[in-house]
Amino acid sequence: MSNTVTLNIEWCKGCHICVHVCPRAVLEVDEAAFVRGFHPVRVARPEDCTACLQCELLCPDLAIMVADDEAEPARDPALAEVEGR
Ligand code: SF4
Ligand code: SF4
Repeated sequence: MSNTVTLNIEWCKGCHICVHVCPRAVLEVDEAAFVRGFHPVRVARPEDCTACLQCELLCPDLAIMVADDEAEPARDPALAEVEGR
């Protein structure tokens, strides 16, 4: 299991909600960094991400995007009809 967790550090305000809601401890506070007056978040263990989307849905600043790398690609219904599926 491995998914792509993308953090837009420019939009992050350091509230750390994402760190607290992640059930797999994928995200953690970056204690070594200090930008714009707060410790930012870093993606520490992307290999443990289950793409539950809790962090993406609850981030108040839309600073996280999660891509489920194992999900089936979305199909165009019109194309599926042409192909008889
Ligand atoms: S929830 Fe969003 S704004 Fe808050 S620390 Fe996480 S990424 Fe940054
Ligand atoms: S999608 Fe779920 S498991 Fe992955 S980083 Fe966000 S909260 Fe954690």
